[in-house]
Amino acid sequence: MTLNPHRKYRTATEMVHAGAQRSPYGEVCEAIYLTQGFTYPSAEAAERRFDGEDPGFVYSRYANPTTDMFEKRMCALEGAESARALASGMAAVSTAILCFVKAGDHFVAARSMFGSCRYIIEKVLPRYGVEVSIIDGRKIENWEKAIRPNTRGIFFETPANPTLEMVDIKAVSELAHKVGATVIVDNVFATPLYQKPLELGADVVVYSTTKHIDGHGRCLGGMILSSEEWMTENLQDFFRHTGPGMSPYVAWLMLKSLETLPLRVEEMTRSAAKLADFISGHKAVAKCIYPGRDDHPQRDIVKKQMTGGSTMIAFELKGGKKAAFSFCNHLTIPLISNNLGDTRSIMTHPATTTHQSIGPEARAELGISDGLLRFSVGLEDVDDLLEDVEQALNATL
Ligand SMILES: *Cc1c(COP(=O)(O)O)cnc(C)c1O
Repeated sequence: MTLNPHRKYRTATEMVHAGAQRSPYGEVCEAIYLTQGFTYPSAEAAERRFDGEDPGFVYSRYANPTTDMFEKRMCALEGAESARALASGMAAVSTAILCFVKAGDHFVAARSMFGSCRYIIEKVLPRYGVEVSIIDGRKIENWEKAIRPNTRGIFFETPANPTLEMVDIKAVSELAHKVGATVIVDNVFATPLYQKPLELGADVVVYSTTKHIDGHGRCLGGMILSSEEWMTENLQDFFRHTGPGMSPYVAWLMLKSLETLPLRVEEMTRSAAKLADFISGHKAVAKCIYPGRDDHPQRDIVKKQMTGGSTMIAFELKGGKKAAFSFCNHLTIPLISNNLGDTRSIMTHPATTTHQSIGPEARAELGISDGLLRFSVGLEDVDDLLEDVEQALNATL
């Protein structure tokens, strides 16, 4: 059967079924359409396809049936009208920004962000004549001061990588819309299950689907979601002619992963909450930041816009870099790596890996100390994780 398009189903149901389109063979599992393009029954049919009278597929750089199923399932999850799948999270971030800004525009971004996002905004945009302000996004006053009449775009992550700092999506969107700016939210850390930026007033949501959405550490991917109007006016032609789209094979893997996304993320969040409580109370730990705990420094914003605590924990060891390295080297279950949202628990030392290139001054500004660790909690038994973290913390004392 197919879902009734006029009815709204609950998330778990939609993640198994939404967007599925069966070929005449009636396959159970969605088909992988590994084809560069499409053929037409007649010259007249080709003409109609190209002038848009007939809405079918023409070329996989524009759209592909397998990728389309993944995009439709993501629309159901996000509550968005339109979506485009891209080759990586960074393809999504850069395309979402570059498709609409032009020389003379002003752009504002919150400074706590993924290193590659910072590169696009700080280094690439000025080369094209876009003026950029990078601010501390935690306080709404900073946004008030930074936004100008010619501000055309706004970008932020919330919770941010790796410090789990929050930005108030609703308040920033209201300010941005007074000057007609587009608000883009990188929602990777919250996942579409726990935070819905479009409902809170943002215009565009981007994901690295490499993270929780693939969730098995297999492949890279990205997604841009927005209203139909924003997509048609800003992204559609840019996307078609620059060619950053996702391969149909990867889209199929992502589609399979969406079937278990709610199960995985909810279980990982339950474990993360237990681990955060344990880590906060351990004497080797200077501080522990977890959006699901009442001692999160911006607990009021978390409560307003997130419905779950997330699968990510940040914590700082009293013994600095030496303790952080010793802790990582004593772990037997979490991998030392830099992915997140994976079924496998992953421990990252941002100062020497993901945030090494930004330099010590920028790290200090962002609160990324040498003792800070980022913990992506996986699907292992939580008691095994607790025991492993405990012995590794004890070894640093
Ligand atoms: C990983 C990540 C990206 C980039 O995604 P890729 O798939 O690695 O290109 C962007 N933003 C955030 C918050 C991320 O965690």
